[in-house]
Amino acid sequence: MNIYKERILELRKLIDHYNDEYYINDKSVISDREFDNLLNELIKLEKKYPEFDDLNSPSKRVGGGITKKFNVAKHTYPMYSLNNTYTKNEVIDWDIRVKKKLGIDEIEYTCELKYDGASINLIYEDGILVKGITRGNGVEGDDVTLNVKTIKDIPLKLSGKFPKRIEVRGEIILPLNEFKNLNRIRQLNGEKPFMNPRNTASGSLKLQDSNEVAKRPLKAFIYAAINDESVDISHYNSLVNARANGFLIPDSIVRANSLDEVFGFINLWRNNKSNLNYEIDGVVIKVNNINYQKTLGHTSKFPRWAIAFKYDSERATTEIKSLRYQVGRTGSVTPVANLSPVLLSGTIIKSASLHNEDQILKLNLRIGDKVFIEKGGEIIPKIVGVDQKYRGKESDKIRFIDNCPECNSKLIRSKNQSNHYCENENECRPQIIGKIQHFISKEAMDIDGIGNETVIQLYDNKLIKNIADLYKLKFTDLIKLDRMAEKSINNLMDGIEKSKNNPYEKVLFGLGIRFVGKTVAKKIIEKFPNIDNLINASYDDLNETNNIGDKIAKSLIKFFRDQININLINELKYFGLNFNKSDKTLSSNILTGKSFVISGTFEFHTREEIKSIVELNGGKISSSISSKTSYILAGKSMGPKKKIKANKLGVNVIDEKEFLKMLEL
Ligand code: AMP
Ligand code: ZN
Repeated sequence: MNIYKERILELRKLIDHYNDEYYINDKSVISDREFDNLLNELIKLEKKYPEFDDLNSPSKRVGGGITKKFNVAKHTYPMYSLNNTYTKNEVIDWDIRVKKKLGIDEIEYTCELKYDGASINLIYEDGILVKGITRGNGVEGDDVTLNVKTIKDIPLKLSGKFPKRIEVRGEIILPLNEFKNLNRIRQLNGEKPFMNPRNTASGSLKLQDSNEVAKRPLKAFIYAAINDESVDISHYNSLVNARANGFLIPDSIVRANSLDEVFGFINLWRNNKSNLNYEIDGVVIKVNNINYQKTLGHTSKFPRWAIAFKYDSERATTEIKSLRYQVGRTGSVTPVANLSPVLLSGTIIKSASLHNEDQILKLNLRIGDKVFIEKGGEIIPKIVGVDQKYRGKESDKIRFIDNCPECNSKLIRSKNQSNHYCENENECRPQIIGKIQHFISKEAMDIDGIGNETVIQLYDNKLIKNIADLYKLKFTDLIKLDRMAEKSINNLMDGIEKSKNNPYEKVLFGLGIRFVGKTVAKKIIEKFPNIDNLINASYDDLNETNNIGDKIAKSLIKFFRDQININLINELKYFGLNFNKSDKTLSSNILTGKSFVISGTFEFHTREEIKSIVELNGGKISSSISSKTSYILAGKSMGPKKKIKANKLGVNVIDEKEFLKMLEL
């Protein structure tokens, strides 16, 4: 096939795929800029080779931005883009144009950071938040009111003085530390990490379930407050007022009376932006006087009274030497480019992750290509483009591998997934090692005296090939290994022995079942208090359990259907690991004859756990207080009615600590 036609078809497929991911699955797999690059490449090629035209090409569709799921709402005032510049000269030209049009020589600007997130338009009537709308296509967007109501920085009710109706605009962002934390947890749960904070913020805003949105620690930075009453004549003051109304306006905003001051601001944040706990992609300079803004007006795309100055991310150019593929604990295969070493932001970069096959196709990569790499907000450098002047040979075009680089089994990429997986989980080296490393990790079994390196050493010396083998290690075998002294062996053996006391939930999480993270493991245990219940559970039993659902249910079924895993669990049981929720919880008659009423929530146990502790020790649970009640076990936020009744009947009220003490006797 003609190579241009091939590329056109490839681009259409990719763009369609990203559109589906974004509009149907609410996932932003790539940044807007990367998306635009692809689209522009397609448009260019289609123009040059009209013989390959197709009415269904994604380039023919009008850019939307509105998902089908939310109601569409119109903006009272359109939400424009900003005119982007990258050089000081462009800012100078803009300043000249503005002054000329206004017929003045001096002007006051407001300088703000350009927060990199998702824009939102908030409408307040009589001080009450009535609507939150995404930017969408600028004229209309998605009504995401329920979702924005979960964001704590957005007041539901305004404080102080406010006009009857006000539109407040801002950027929803995800702070960097929260982003890292979210990804850490996702990875622990075997989920794919999010690409960057910006996409995570905009994806979160479009989640269907506002309870889920509430769990994302989003913030809202406000950059405009518009009202019809025009009481403020300065943009800066309107922001100060908005701050008094309860909005979050970053302290970085300043007024500038000259271009010098504007450039001072630009330089200040070029040097300091890496200290912020959020990403910015430049600064925004705005004419401060709102009457002037009105006079200047808009083009069809952006206001003439504002301009964005974008910082070029630090970039370097280097060459792709070769490609390698990394296999993770769950079998996911990640392509990594080996680069000619190059200095970028103070570190020497030798490789860059390419994430998945789509990324390779998107960049149309060949070995030998000169590529641009950036460090951006992410820690791992990223290939952002190919220098078209120095392309590798067409014949060196990179094709994703078909077989696992480690064990040679056929890779699987299922529909709706961007990653390839090696499914030979029990014989593929990095998967075996990864699983054992997961088992010993702090979050799982927290085994002292053994680290990731030791796991590799033990595996390579054929002393372990699964987690059960850890419990078979012998001093006499270990002492033969390099770097293993008597003391460290004793530590290791102690750590392993101690791990047998870990509760069932740690063991279950340690098994490393795909999608069964820490929280999920806890939830599972509440419903299935021992592993045999869980092994025998049907898909329906699992799927009906709160917080489990289809994906996790399928993964559990698949795991327990594999006889190798059942054998492994039997071995672990034999070594004395806990596969029973109540295994090591006290079991006694201490509470026989006593009845408990439980109220509120507790620090060390869930209510369910408390109930089973009472019952396992012979006590009884009842739901209402009577003269027969022996104790009221009061947690946080115990209901006031219960308190009054307890006092009246003279029933003992104890807290969780006192309760646990009772059991120690
Ligand atoms: P662009 O998406 O590059 O056209 O830039 C316009 C977008 O920048 C707006 O829709 C806002 O979401 C965003 N933005 C971030 N910070 C600011 C700011 N301080 N003032 C105006 N817009 C901002
Ligand atoms: Zn493999």
